[in-house]
Order: sequence, then C-alpha cells, then structure tokens
Amino acid sequence: MVIGSALRLPAQWGVSQWNFGAHICYIDKKMNSYPAIMMLSSLKLTWLPAILLMFSPVLTTVATALQVTVRPERVNLGDTLKILVEPEPGETLTEAPTVKVAGESVPVFALGNHRWRALVPTTPLEQHGRRSLVVTGNNTTRNMLVWVGDRRFPTQSIWLREGGPQGTDHEFDRMDALRAMVTPQKFWNGTFRRPTSGPVTTGYGIRRYYNGVFANDYYHRGLDYAAPTGTPVIAAAAGRVAVVGRESDGFLIHGNTIGLDHGQGVTTVYLHLSRIDVREGDMVQAGQVIGAVGNTGASTGPHLHWGLNVNGKNVDPQPWLSGGFE
Ligand SMILES: [Zn+2]
Repeated sequence: MVIGSALRLPAQWGVSQWNFGAHICYIDKKMNSYPAIMMLSSLKLTWLPAILLMFSPVLTTVATALQVTVRPERVNLGDTLKILVEPEPGETLTEAPTVKVAGESVPVFALGNHRWRALVPTTPLEQHGRRSLVVTGNNTTRNMLVWVGDRRFPTQSIWLREGGPQGTDHEFDRMDALRAMVTPQKFWNGTFRRPTSGPVTTGYGIRRYYNGVFANDYYHRGLDYAAPTGTPVIAAAAGRVAVVGRESDGFLIHGNTIGLDHGQGVTTVYLHLSRIDVREGDMVQAGQVIGAVGNTGASTGPHLHWGLNVNGKNVDPQPWLSGGFE
C-alpha cells in the first residue's frame, strides 16, 4: 500500500516518517467509490451535451481518409484510452499517423493491416472533462474531443510518526527510468494475468490525507494483494526483465523489486518481494513465476504491490486484467 513509486513526497511529509502497513487501510468506508456506470446512469439531462461529446468521434465522422476510434466508449480517470487509427476501406495508411491528446504527442505503433494504435494514460491527479484529440495522417487531420469522466476514489487518513525507512535516489531513479521506457516491440498479448493469489486489500487510486492535510500528489499507484510470504508471483504478461532491485542495493522503500517491460510504453512493477527468480535482461512469458510475495521495503505485512504504467503514468491495472488492450 505504501508505495507510490512515482511519488517523491514533499519534504514536509517525510518519506522517512512513513509508519503504516499493508493491512492498515485507514479507509473511510463512507467514501468508497461506486461504479462509473452508476455515475453515468445517474447523470442529469444537463450532462447530455457532455455525454454526446464523448461519442463525437463517431457522430461527426464524415467521409475522410482516416477513421479514428476511441475505446473504451466510457472513459473515467485512471483508465487507459486506446486510439485506433485506420484508413477508409480500400485505402492504405503506410506511415504512422501522429496523435496528440491535450496537445501532447502520444507514441503510435503499427498493429498490422494499415491499422495504428496509441495508448493514452489517465490518472486520478488529472481533471475530468474534455480532451482535445488531433490525429494527422494521409494528409488529413481529424480534430475531435474525448470526454474523460470523473471517478470518486476512496480516501485514507494517515498520521505520520518519526523513524520509518528512508527512500534512496537510486531506487526512485530506476523506477522513473522503467516508467519512461517506450520499447518499439510489443511483447504482451491480450489480457494481463492477475500476478498473485489473495484478495486486493488496497485498490487503485486511493487518495490520502497526511496529518489531516489532503495530499494533492498522492494516489495509490497500483493494487495490493495480501498473500503469505512465499506465495508465487507471476509475470502478468510477456516481457523483458528491465529492473531487478534489492533491498540490500538500496531499494529501501520498494523492497525487493521486479520491473517488466512489455513494450510500447507498457511496464509493470512487483514490489516487496521475498524472493526474485529472474535477472535483468531475461525474457519472461505470461504466467511465468518470477518471484514470491514478501514484506521487504516499506511494508508492515506480506503483500504484493503491483503497478502498471502506460507511457510514463500509473494507470488502473483493472482494465488490463479484464479484456486487455490490443
Ligand atoms: Zn501498494
């Protein structure tokens, strides 16, 4: 639960002061999130124009040389957007189109048959609402809007005390480098696998108050699975072992850590391990045992923290476990 690996807490919060554990959730049950589908169904009619914006890529399509499809149809904060670009039937699209979301370029990769795909991360730190989407290819530019819906994340209140473990630049730099990887090859295939057994004890995106003050930069950047020390941990998808970090080498917050590069900007992390069975550079298959659940680093009970990054941001892994992305 402890780790937001992208997070370097402001000094006044003091990473060294963390003193809480995997099983102490501090969750205010009254603020549990509710399914996005319910949120949408409860929207008033005044929201209708906004909802229509979400579908505008479909509604506004006219005969152009470029078809653009955004999935899923309903996107909420934390979700990964898939933007599919393809030519009109009978036409070709041999050069990669460019895709910009909210003015920022997104890596685009070939899926074959003249189809191209971009993955766009969203996180709880962003504002919900519309995003501009500009796709250029075949001498055509499509200007569209995508609606990213709000999502209510549960909150925790954390009261910090002195004397917890101190994180090191080494571990944070390694994790930053992993998150920044955009390897051209695609190693994963289809739906990701649940990385270990045991219940999810801390969900994605939970926000925090530290000593009564809301932490604007914090959200839980993954899923925590509680399982006994030694429980096997598997690779959620095929990939290359890009990071092996050990507590003894300075991974004091993350604990024994594996980072997998699945290619095309998608990486996963496995933290607090008791055992590591792979070496950097190894290629692993989906489902291959790579280590075991443990209690290393900033953790007060055996659990696996599992995180999934897309193009530099920690997204909700759940959609990757239920359907996945092409
Ligand atoms: Zn965690």
